[in-house]
Amino acid sequence: MHQMTLAEIARGLADKKFSSEELTKVLLARITQLDPQLNSFISLTEELALEQAKAADARRANGEIGALLGAPIAHKDLFCTQGIRTSCGSKMLDNFKAPYDATVVAKLAAAGAVTLGKTNMDEFAMGSANESSWYGAVKNPWNLEHVPGGSSGGSAAAVAARLLPAATATDTGGSIRQPAAFTNLTGLKPTYGRVSRWGMIAYASSLDQGGPLARTAEDCAILLQGMAGFDQNDSTSIDEPVPDYSASLGDSLQGLRIGVPKEYFSAGLDPRIAELIQNSIKELQKLGAVIKEISLPNMQHAIPAYYVIAPAEASSNLSRFDGVRFGHRCEQPKDLIDLYKRSRGEGFGAEVQRRIMVGAYALSAGYYDAYYLKAQKIRRLVKNDFMAAFNEVDIILGPTTPNPAWKLGAKNSDPVAAYLEDVYTITANLAGLPGLSMPAGFVDGLPVGVQLLAPYFQEGRLLNVAHQYQLNTDWHTRTPTGF
Ligand code: GLN
Repeated sequence: MHQMTLAEIARGLADKKFSSEELTKVLLARITQLDPQLNSFISLTEELALEQAKAADARRANGEIGALLGAPIAHKDLFCTQGIRTSCGSKMLDNFKAPYDATVVAKLAAAGAVTLGKTNMDEFAMGSANESSWYGAVKNPWNLEHVPGGSSGGSAAAVAARLLPAATATDTGGSIRQPAAFTNLTGLKPTYGRVSRWGMIAYASSLDQGGPLARTAEDCAILLQGMAGFDQNDSTSIDEPVPDYSASLGDSLQGLRIGVPKEYFSAGLDPRIAELIQNSIKELQKLGAVIKEISLPNMQHAIPAYYVIAPAEASSNLSRFDGVRFGHRCEQPKDLIDLYKRSRGEGFGAEVQRRIMVGAYALSAGYYDAYYLKAQKIRRLVKNDFMAAFNEVDIILGPTTPNPAWKLGAKNSDPVAAYLEDVYTITANLAGLPGLSMPAGFVDGLPVGVQLLAPYFQEGRLLNVAHQYQLNTDWHTRTPTGF
């Protein structure tokens, strides 16, 4: 039962082959049995899950239908869930029970999805390895000595290990696509503003975007359908109609113009990954796509710009955690300053503190122009590169990551080495564009992802290309041994 995709579950429930309650019990037992090896969950919500599953079964018995009605999922632990711990992977929020549901959580619950729990993540979504979580590192089910990627590593490891079919995640600089690549999943970062950020604990507000992590493009379409849409509570949410993402999956790729940026195949890319990317290009050519070399000349400036903008926004967003209103409070503060200092010093981990310091520095009076303003200008150049490229092509294709998943601990002493791994993903966040990663093969038994980028609001095109690719390849069907 645990091998089923969301699409298969929806068919099984519609055909009354099993109930949502039965399936939920099977998956909860599987999580209890296998998750100690992975550490992919921070909280299990068994009671809520069973309640939601029974309610979904009752709705189906009353004739209601829906792809998510009775479908088990989990939420990355930065989506607020009313009355349930929402930790953001931090000691700071270990005792925080959200007073309301995030819009994404409420929408999926209304569609009948069943919440099995909250997944582990890098602290405040800062990281690419899921090692900065206060709840401990998450392991990659493909090799337990390797990282699953981050920051949505818990959602990725859980789905890859078949503990559940799909989960929500967020992507500020790659945190949906990179863990998808590292664990053989399909993950989609939507256009900025497509999915509401209301109730999603902010890391870098101008970059953060929620999206689906699942095994197939077909399942990403189902989950995204339940997440996307205008929300008046989020002032950056965009009031555009949500298309039927499943409807366009079957479109032909004949004549599809795929751009391959020459900058992607530089020295930093593992040649074995480069070869798998070339294979995926050939596969898409067989399906009728036309390949064109393009250039993204400002790509080299994206990492430095991102690692100024994201920490700058984080330093501002995280100032609300002051030990007064919510979250961790130190014991017996001497005075107000001591309360702030010790609450924040004890509540935040090293990576979060590093970013707050970098961000506060970049925003300070004497340095604002030199760092923050300059980074914003680079951001515009990166966007302009994409706009020029999309005049010529329909999709941009390349690797999701320069290397496969590294060993746990391998980059702990060198944060910049980890930042450099984001080279292919962060440009989409800087420009606000949608991006998808899908399985493209293996290197040393570790999964490799191919990334597709599309113009604004063309999530349907990304899902269509990925689905057609998955109809003709079987990488996405591979299961990690032991799971
Ligand atoms: N690795 C990037 C960072 O640490 C991206 C993280 C994310 O997308 N949340 O900021």
